[in-house]
Amino acid sequence: MSTGRINPDHINAGHANADCINDKVTGLILAGGQGRRMGNVDKGLELFRGKRLVDHVYERLAPQVGGVIINANQNHDAYKTFGVRVVSDAIGNFAGPLAGLHAGLSVSRRPYLASVPCDSPFLPENLVERLMARLDESGAELAVAKTGNQPHPVFCLARRSVLEHLTNFLKGGGRRVDAWYASLDVVEVDFDDQAEAFSNINTREELATFAGMTTAGVTTAAAATVDTGAPASASIDAAAAAAGRLPPAPGDALARVVSCIDDYDPNALRVDKAREVIRSFLTPVATNEKVALRAALGRVLGEDLVSSLDVPAHDNSAMDGYALRHADLKTAGETELRLAGSAFAGRQFAGKLGKRECVRIMTGAVMPPGADTVVIQEVVQVEGDKVRIPAGQKRGQNRRLAGEDLAAGKPVLKAGHPVGPADLGLIASLGLAEVTVRRRLRVAFFSTGDELASVGLVLKPGEVYDSNRYTLHGMLSRLGCDVIDMGVVRDDPAQLERALRTAAADADAIITSGGVSVGEADFIRELLGRLGEVVSWKIAMKPGRPMAFGRIGSASFFGLPGNPVAVMVTFYQFVREALLAQSGRSGDCALPLLQVPCTAAIAKSPGRTEFQRGLLARGEGGRWSVCPTGAQGSGVLRSMSEANCFIVLEHERGPVRPGDPVQVQLFDGLV
Ligand code: AMP
Ligand code: MG
Repeated sequence: MSTGRINPDHINAGHANADCINDKVTGLILAGGQGRRMGNVDKGLELFRGKRLVDHVYERLAPQVGGVIINANQNHDAYKTFGVRVVSDAIGNFAGPLAGLHAGLSVSRRPYLASVPCDSPFLPENLVERLMARLDESGAELAVAKTGNQPHPVFCLARRSVLEHLTNFLKGGGRRVDAWYASLDVVEVDFDDQAEAFSNINTREELATFAGMTTAGVTTAAAATVDTGAPASASIDAAAAAAGRLPPAPGDALARVVSCIDDYDPNALRVDKAREVIRSFLTPVATNEKVALRAALGRVLGEDLVSSLDVPAHDNSAMDGYALRHADLKTAGETELRLAGSAFAGRQFAGKLGKRECVRIMTGAVMPPGADTVVIQEVVQVEGDKVRIPAGQKRGQNRRLAGEDLAAGKPVLKAGHPVGPADLGLIASLGLAEVTVRRRLRVAFFSTGDELASVGLVLKPGEVYDSNRYTLHGMLSRLGCDVIDMGVVRDDPAQLERALRTAAADADAIITSGGVSVGEADFIRELLGRLGEVVSWKIAMKPGRPMAFGRIGSASFFGLPGNPVAVMVTFYQFVREALLAQSGRSGDCALPLLQVPCTAAIAKSPGRTEFQRGLLARGEGGRWSVCPTGAQGSGVLRSMSEANCFIVLEHERGPVRPGDPVQVQLFDGLV
């Protein structure tokens, strides 16, 4: 996953799922209309699920293209929040989408322009890719999306070269899109599989209706009724239900879980106890989707995969050599057989093996009927059609049996299994082009703190740059989550409430860093309690003592400390496993612990678990050992960058002397 072109510092939330940025394409958002059917409003700026319509459209379009231009004829400043170019029509009087397309084509420098309307918050995430494929293939001047018999003329991809033609058409008084298309070489591209993605919002009723539902097959944020002031949990639950998440447990569920934990002390909670609470309080996503085989990499299988065929389909040879019937061989001494033919991979021996006959066979070739054994070519002597086989061959040697890899009717992989490269191959060997996987987990996160400045801005006295959102982005992307970066939220009750409610409605999990986690301020504790069930902990660990956990609506909530290292440590020690479980992974997802000698002394007192940053390296004689990296302060993010593992010093453990064995957890593939 990559961040695409979204800069969440300019907008509220950015979905980072751009696998298909096309740098040759400028994206054009058509927001130049009058919004007549909505009562003459600037439609792009209307609020929908907690954000402006244009925000939704930008988030979906920006990751697909090299840059974005917005066509608007009023409120330019409001559209400039993305830091992109905003252009008006050259023709006045709100002359329609063609005027917007003309304005976009006139200023774009890239060879292609993809246009979308500002009122289509569900637009396909692969719109540009698919339009481009057909445009390329057909050589047409313009590709337009179509569902059923209905073309969607404002969802189109044009070559820049159509500008002249369009200018002349407009100069001649033409205004209608269909009339212009009729004079062009246009190719229509079917999007029947994503018909709902083209829903656009024209009226207030549609705005309300769509806000309360999820469009099937389209991953959208659910309704966030941030500006209604309605009771929080009711609207959050309704939104979550609309998004296909399971309803939350009754209000005191967390209290019940906690009451079942031995030695539960929220003010000095052991790391293993915190993990136990979290584990018992998660609901995995239940919704599945079908994806193309390659796209299943890293996803969680949604259902058991049962083999419909034997793999391999036939007995075949594991070596290059001679296939024969073992019973023909003498028990002692050499046997001479007659060479009856040959069998190659993909071309089998046509006949049947006669008595005292053999067949030249290559690796992977189907065993000739009657043969049960293969003798490797290196040990036989061949003269014309006589083949001499030495003594000592074992029946069935060098033969792979049909169904040896996968047997028809037997489960191959279980639901909950994470799909790795070997699984892709295994599934391909069954001939399956698509795989049913769990939908991706949606994780919303924001930083809290009045002192935080976003990257790209000039620091004022007392401010620090917000680094936690970037660390979180990286860690979550590596886990394969859909990330919703909600930016920085000030230490202000109203803003925090609004952000938490939006996040709860949009996401399966919410992560915050900074003050919220501590819950020291009364208003924060009151707020978390009112929005959901959240407990604040002081964990017996270093770094990362304060943390909050619970549920807001149906989303799990992780309030991480503010310190940058503490964020990473608490993420890897608690959140990672929780999110994997929530995404439907079965089995134990804990990071393995390996034991190596520690080269330096480490001061440590019993009574808390410590996660030192370490460098695992191979010393003389090839032996691996670990050494703590320099400064270990919880704000020293450099210690994470320099390290390649955590040194995990257990709760009961005292000081470490040089040479003592310690446990490490590798970062590789993690950070
Ligand atoms: P808090 O938990 O809010 O008291 O923050 C603890 C420390 O972490 C303070 O020094 C904060 O300035 C710092 N901090 C909090 N959030 C962030 C962040 N998003 N990026 C970098 N530093 C942060
Ligand atoms: Mg703070």
